[in-house]
Amino acid sequence: MSGSLVVVGTGPGKPELMTPATLAALATATDLVGYGPYLDRIPKTRADQCRHVSDNRVELDRARLALSLAASGRKVVVVSGGDPGVFAMAAAVFEAVEAGDAAWRTLDIRVEPGVTAMLAAAAEVGAPLGGDFCAISLSDNLKAWATIERRLRAAAEADFVIALYNPASKARPHQLAQAFDLLRTIKGLDTPLLFVRAAGTPEVRVVTTTLGAADPSCADMRTLVIIGASTTRQIGRWIYTPRSEREGRS
Ligand code: SAH
Repeated sequence: MSGSLVVVGTGPGKPELMTPATLAALATATDLVGYGPYLDRIPKTRADQCRHVSDNRVELDRARLALSLAASGRKVVVVSGGDPGVFAMAAAVFEAVEAGDAAWRTLDIRVEPGVTAMLAAAAEVGAPLGGDFCAISLSDNLKAWATIERRLRAAAEADFVIALYNPASKARPHQLAQAFDLLRTIKGLDTPLLFVRAAGTPEVRVVTTTLGAADPSCADMRTLVIIGASTTRQIGRWIYTPRSEREGRS
């Protein structure tokens, strides 16, 4: 029996945002590997499917477990939230392959795309990502805070719309305030800023404000922050960024 490993994302939360390709991979898996809350989003349709639940912080251990199971002939699906390639398990799997058993390089490994939080959050409010945009994770678990500041500054100077993943956690309550302070030295204080919590789920909560007035305590681990470009504007209850820079205000 030849094993396989598919890395999937559950989307932002509601079942309709899980892709049919992801559902098909889940239906044929013998083993599911992932963080508990993500596995809870998947209906238990097969009694013979093993679930390997792990803590959120041990991504490399989880990736190694999944690779060993696939190498032993199991059909393994590794489950992330959102899209598995965006600040999630797909890269962890390849890091484990790179550092691990040479035989893992010949395994049947596939990644299925999913709906990432940034897209679900943008759709809640209109089209804030209508022009050029970038995504930055504010977590400094895997990179230096100085790197994050350098990227924030470059993104602001280039006038990208900026989507901030991992804006705050209990361990990091102050960094979002530091990020806002840095951006305020470069971007206009009237730049639209959105806190979108639990995007793409029935519990969604949106706070629309400006960079000048934004209160960092509006963000938690389930929030995505979107900071507009100079052309981003509010039309009625919608926020959008025009596709053309000629539509700008200045
Ligand atoms: N792979 C995931 C991102 C993992 S990083 C994806 O593609 O969406 C975790 C961060 O994603 C959270 O701290 C939060 O900033 C964001 N996030 C995940 N789901 C979200 C949701 N439903 N609404 C808003 N933000 C979300």
